[in-house]
Order: sequence, then structure tokens, then C-alpha cells
Amino acid sequence: MFDILFCNADILTMRDENRTVLNGYVCVEGKYITYVGKDLPSAPSKRTIDCTGKILMPGLINTHTHTAMSLLRGYADDYALNEWLFDKVFPVEGRLTAEAIEAGVRLGFAEMIRTGTTSISDMYYFQPMAAQVALDMGIRASFCNGIICFDADSFNPDADRGVQETITLSREFHNAGNGRIKADASIHAEYTSSPKIWHFVNNLADKYNLNMQIHLSETKSEHENCIEKYGKTPSQILAENGVFDRKTIAAHCVWLSDDDMDLLAQKGVSCAHNPISNLKLASGIASVRKMTDHGMNVALGTDGCCSNNTHDLFEEIRAAALLAKGISYDPTALCAYDALKLATVNGALAQGRENEVGRIKEGLEADIILLDMNSPITRPMYDPISAVVYSASGRDVCMTMIQGKILYENGEYKTVDIEKAISDADELAKKIISGEDLC
Ligand SMILES: [Zn+2]
Repeated sequence: MFDILFCNADILTMRDENRTVLNGYVCVEGKYITYVGKDLPSAPSKRTIDCTGKILMPGLINTHTHTAMSLLRGYADDYALNEWLFDKVFPVEGRLTAEAIEAGVRLGFAEMIRTGTTSISDMYYFQPMAAQVALDMGIRASFCNGIICFDADSFNPDADRGVQETITLSREFHNAGNGRIKADASIHAEYTSSPKIWHFVNNLADKYNLNMQIHLSETKSEHENCIEKYGKTPSQILAENGVFDRKTIAAHCVWLSDDDMDLLAQKGVSCAHNPISNLKLASGIASVRKMTDHGMNVALGTDGCCSNNTHDLFEEIRAAALLAKGISYDPTALCAYDALKLATVNGALAQGRENEVGRIKEGLEADIILLDMNSPITRPMYDPISAVVYSASGRDVCMTMIQGKILYENGEYKTVDIEKAISDADELAKKIISGEDLC
């Protein structure tokens, strides 16, 4: 017996050989997809969901975010990058307590589940606590604490919070929740550390068999300062120091040279493209087409909510498609299907989860979303893929399932008290503005 049968669904499988199944069926048993097809399966199901007028597709994958920054949504808009970071973000982050970060994480996960994101790669601090919230709320997530060290001589791993959180994540959370939660290693960025630290983090990753997350060539000045300092680009110096000798997600990649792209492709590094954050902070526009032409895997991220200000990945998909066309004067530079792959198939590959999620296929885990296309915003629908990319948004998601469990359905959140999550965040925001202690 199936646990859930989805019927009459327009299915976006994200499988190149069979992209859509119109008016089809998907069955879920336990945490797995066990049937996808045009014919009604003969076995009975415990629950049947009629998907008439709805699109069924894989949950979206956000390969770069700082979820706790949901608490800072709208806190620092329209500032220049340096002022934004040093005068606004760093001072307020210095005041954030564990409780405040937990509230930000809970709000962020609720937003992601609401808007159809089912798997994330997250870089922040207090990560073992965030991993526990993810376990409880049901989202799929790979957590890291980006290690920062400006003075390598004083680096003490036993006292370094990033190192200690990485070890705790590895020991207590890696593969928890039936593989849903993972620990990653992380160097925050080239410009916030140095070769001694990179070697230490490489060893840490090898010891616990972890993937890597890093920020790479986000801004022009960061990229050029590195060339001045080492005579090499950030990609070159990090590769030379062994940082990419394991599965790596490199966030941003706005200023890569052609040689950098060849190098990253050869090393199997995935780019987490964050088009809206890059636009909002005026960092530049990464060229998805160029990176893929050089053989790189490109996935999508939102970055933190203080530079976006949403975790709605449908907005990133659309922005990525439009920007790729705009900067190349070529409307065919990134077609709707390839844009959607950034947030599904390519995201799964970037996270090392390509055999778990990213497509609607028998044997993969059931991370499934439904979009209600029965609205004047999305009708008529000539092509379901292009309707999702160019007309839909996260607000059209009416059901989110992760590992076979429904976490959100028709306005109802199953694993979080949404009124409390929102009011906790509102109360903390008042204290952030008034300068009161956060607790
Ligand atoms: Zn970031």
C-alpha cells in the first residue's frame, strides 16, 4: 500500500529524457518516491491528493544562505557594501544571542518550507542549534560554520568557535534524520583567512569526510586584492592549497577569469549563483552561461536575508534566467528548463545529494512540492516549465513534502507554530532597533 498517491498532476520530472508527465501519478512510500507515470497504479493508497490544476515538481535547493539572517530582513537596505557590512551587519551580529539566532533560523526555515525550498546549504554560527531546529522542523540541510581568522599566529583550534562547531556538527549531526542533516567544513573566504587556516580546515574536512562551502570572488576588490597579495586569483591560490580537493560549493563566483572557470570545472567545484544578493549589494553579475560553457556545475542560492530580502528561490530562478539573457544580448542564453535545473538537479549535485533528491524519479527521496496554477497569474499555461520559471512564485506553493512527510499544506504549517515564529521575530526586531539586550 502506498502512503500517498498524487493524481491528475502535471509533473515536472527534471529528467532530461522525459521532462514532463502531464495528468500523471506519483506514489510515495515511507521516504521514497516509488512510482511516477501516466497510468493509475493498481495498489491502494492511504491518502490520495487530487492535483488537478497543480504542478508537481522536485523541492527547490538553496545552495547558499545564512538562514538566521532572516531576523535582519529589511534591517539594512540601500547601503554601499562596506558600510552595509561594517557599520550595520557586523555590529548587530555581535549582539545576536543563541535565542535570537534560533528565532531567525525558525522563521527562515518556515519561509523556505512555505515557498517550496526543501534542501539548503547554510553557513553561519550557533550551527549545532540550527541543526537541531532543522531536525525538528523537517527541512533537509547541510550546515557549516565559515572559519574566519585574520591572525594565523594566534589561531587556536581548541578555542576557535568555527572549528569547535564543525566538530560538534560532525560528531552529533552528520547524517542525522536519515541522512537529512549533514555537516560541511567551511573556510569563510580567501580574504578572511590564510594558507595555514586553509590547511587546518582541509585536514578537518578529511578527518570527518566533509564537503566544503566557501565564498569566492564575490566582489571586484576582493578578487583584485588577492591578485595583489599572492600574484594569483582566489580560485588559483585556494586550489594550489588543496581547498578544492573535495566536493565544494563556491558562493558567488562573480569575478572569475576564464582560467578560473577551467580550473574550477576541472576540480568539480560547483558555483552557488546568488543573482539577487549580487544585484542588491552591487557586486556585479556572474555569468552562468560562461561558467556552464567552461564545464562548471552552477546551482542557485539566495544568500542571507539582509541582502536579498527573501528566501523565495523562484525569484532567483527568474532573475538568473533574465540576467543571463540581459548580459549576453542573447534571449537563448539560459532557457527556462536550464534555469529550473539550477535550483533542482544542479543544486543536488552541488550538495552531493544527486542520488537523494533533485528529480521526480522512482527510488529518490520524496522531496516534492505542489504549485497551484489555478490563478490569473499563471493562466493560460502553454508550457508548464516556462509557467513555473516566468510566471509563478513561491507564494503559489500549496504543499511542501520532505522525505515523504508533508510539512506545509494549504496555509497550514505542520512542524512549526507560525504565529509564534513571526511574533518572536517581531519582538526581537523591536529590541534590535531600540538597542535593548536580545534574549
Ligand atoms: Zn554568503
